[in-house]
Amino acid sequence: MAAIVPSVDGMTELRVVGAREHNLRDVTVALPKHAFTVVTGVSGSGKSSLVFDTIAAESQRQLNETFTTFVRNRLPRYGQPDVDAIENLSAAIVVDQKRLGGGPRSTVGTVTDIYSLMRLLWSRAGRPFAGYSNAFSFNDPQGMCPRCTGLGTARTIVVDELIDRSRSLNEGAIRFPTFQPGGWMWRTFADSGLFDLDKPLAEYTPAEWDAFLHGAPDAPSAKYEGLLPRFERIWLPKDADSLKGRTREAFERVVTQETCPKCHGARLSPEALASKVAGRSIAECAAMEAEDLLAFVRTLTEPEPVVAGLATQLRRLVSIGLGYLTMDRPTSTLSGGESQRVKMVRHLGSSLTDMLYVFDEPSVGLHPDDVTQLVALLKSLRDKGNTVLVVEHDPDVIAAADHVVDLGPGAGQDGGQVVYQGGVAGLADTPTGRYLRHRPRIKENPRPAERFLEIRGATRHNLRGVDVDIPLGLLTVVTGVAGSGKSTLVHGFVPDAVSVDQSPIRGSRRSSPATFTGMLDGIRQRFAAANGVSASLFSANSDGACPRCNGLGVIYTDLAFLDPMVTTCEECQGRRFVEDVLRHTYRGHTISEVLDLSARDARSVFPDEPMLDRLVDVGLGYLSLGQPLNTLSGGERQRLKLAVELSRPGRTYVFDEPTTGLHPSDVAGLVELFDRLVAAGSTVVVIEHNLDVIARADWVVDLGPGAGRHGGRVLFQGPPAELARQPGSKTGRHLARLSG
Ligand code: ADP
Ligand code: ADP
Ligand code: ZN
Ligand code: ZN
Repeated sequence: MAAIVPSVDGMTELRVVGAREHNLRDVTVALPKHAFTVVTGVSGSGKSSLVFDTIAAESQRQLNETFTTFVRNRLPRYGQPDVDAIENLSAAIVVDQKRLGGGPRSTVGTVTDIYSLMRLLWSRAGRPFAGYSNAFSFNDPQGMCPRCTGLGTARTIVVDELIDRSRSLNEGAIRFPTFQPGGWMWRTFADSGLFDLDKPLAEYTPAEWDAFLHGAPDAPSAKYEGLLPRFERIWLPKDADSLKGRTREAFERVVTQETCPKCHGARLSPEALASKVAGRSIAECAAMEAEDLLAFVRTLTEPEPVVAGLATQLRRLVSIGLGYLTMDRPTSTLSGGESQRVKMVRHLGSSLTDMLYVFDEPSVGLHPDDVTQLVALLKSLRDKGNTVLVVEHDPDVIAAADHVVDLGPGAGQDGGQVVYQGGVAGLADTPTGRYLRHRPRIKENPRPAERFLEIRGATRHNLRGVDVDIPLGLLTVVTGVAGSGKSTLVHGFVPDAVSVDQSPIRGSRRSSPATFTGMLDGIRQRFAAANGVSASLFSANSDGACPRCNGLGVIYTDLAFLDPMVTTCEECQGRRFVEDVLRHTYRGHTISEVLDLSARDARSVFPDEPMLDRLVDVGLGYLSLGQPLNTLSGGERQRLKLAVELSRPGRTYVFDEPTTGLHPSDVAGLVELFDRLVAAGSTVVVIEHNLDVIARADWVVDLGPGAGRHGGRVLFQGPPAELARQPGSKTGRHLARLSG
């Protein structure tokens, strides 16, 4: 047990009394302050509802109350969580897995402040001397490359994608929707009087060609501008994500991103790039892996405080298992787990104390070998006088906790209660306690590997010509420390694979498990047949839907930089449909009631709907049929996609850390699903650190030995029992713990 430092008033516990958010059943817990607490329990048991939606939300709400009305009106109004009292609450800092936004100007260096220290270093010690530290900022006009304005990439128009030279203007030679014959944009060419509208472009004279592409200064119509300048002005600055349908397709075909020809991707002005510290430019150093940059910084002595600060912050990045990241890496390319650890580095540098740090599964993406380091960092946050609250399933993190809260016993309505709170040693007969005592064993008789998908000479990122064999029709798990190259290999080189990932689902506010799985069509048909009305009446796009919320039951208020605010629709009180529609029932339920049923409960109303069984199979039986998909976690989204895939045999599937968000007792069920896919003739390739999954594989591909340029090699491929016997293997050593 950690030393519990009593706060000034002698209070040593954060107490939550009578919490009732979502499925919580009057939960009362006492969390020791200045200690490291793990909240665990099966998926859907209510961990997030307690930790994020009650404790962190109340802290945020009270903090907002302290601002002036002016500021408060610009912040999201957090509803008061449904809880009787929270005592001794500190200001909460939530370190979650949401991707770090910030666009192309946000890099690992900028978000960790390491890059601002580097700018300071080059402005003080760089030769030739370049001025102030802003001269090294690619986000400042003083420092940015003038050609790409600091983006490192420049957009260019692929002329041969934009036009079809074999056609005339009348035949639609310009291959872009807004330039179609007869249209307004097209007319500026037609009305210019410069071109024969029936002559194919290939037959234009050099002068016509030049005028067509670049404009003609003495054209009769002063408005005539030339295709390229016009396209550059109107279309080039557009964001592809803001475009739709055919326009977007055409845009993505015509406009490409290329490394900036002037700075070659370094983002900075020639003056900034000329300035060197110990022979290196700031851009060269930003392109080094953190571990190598740290070694370089250690060779420097001046100016002492800047060098020391830089070394400290880099050491944190390395110690948290991110030593393979380069400072110039755009944050948009980081995984959820990497994003969370980068945020953690930011907070480790903070000198605030008595804060409440809240983490969401920080072990995601970490090899068991790096979990030890993670635990050490969580403890160092605690030892600085903070309270650390972690939602986690990893047995090694649970084992290291000062205090454990186990929620359950089941998910959804079957959960929401505290089944245990206290020290780890006392975890008795809860699903968590049982699991910790009985870990699964290594599969001794894997299915034989006969035919292989042969990957030869894979080269990308840190992979340099690697050869890998993936057995067809079996369950393969790809392992290795974070940054060793697993994602690069699997996503880049397993052809024709269906990737069942955690990425958001399009239009997720308007979709639900019922729409996503296609079940809603059948449900609407049944309502229609039972009531002798049209099925479309029960659609959120029909006149039957509540006109105020358009069938959503809730109203979203979008806030500029923050998550949108969600309130129940007052008109229909969350029931989504107009009264006339709610008069119709099927087996005693209105359509609104059906959408509120959990998948598990809906089985008795729709016994012949196989998709309901699949939802239960993937551990999502607790989701309600109408729950908007934007409220799902990444792990839940992934399992929902898996439920749909279970009905399509004979493919190749790729999963990236599918155990995210899953309690160990749910993991066994997930492995059974993989076995079902394999039994149906599919090839399943899984990126995982979870030892229980590795143990149950037919075949393991272990990458490493390190991360970044220290990784990218194949260390082992074969059955798991053999890997566990490899004396030199990190993964094997951890796996061997399961065979004892
Ligand atoms: P855990 O974090 O343990 O996986 P959650 O706290 O996310 O569990 O979920 C507990 C229950 O509350 C589940 O039945 C879940 O579907 C439900 N739930 C979670 N968020 C929402 C929401 N925004 N609206 C409605 N129900 C929700
Ligand atoms: P893993 O999946 O094992 O964590 P990755 O395949 O993500 O490893 O990373 C392997 C190497 O490739 C690392 O050095 C990483 O920094 C690099 N890398 C991965 N994705 C990108 C990217 N989008 N841009 C640049 N480098 C990348
Ligand atoms: Zn440039
Ligand atoms: Zn409504």
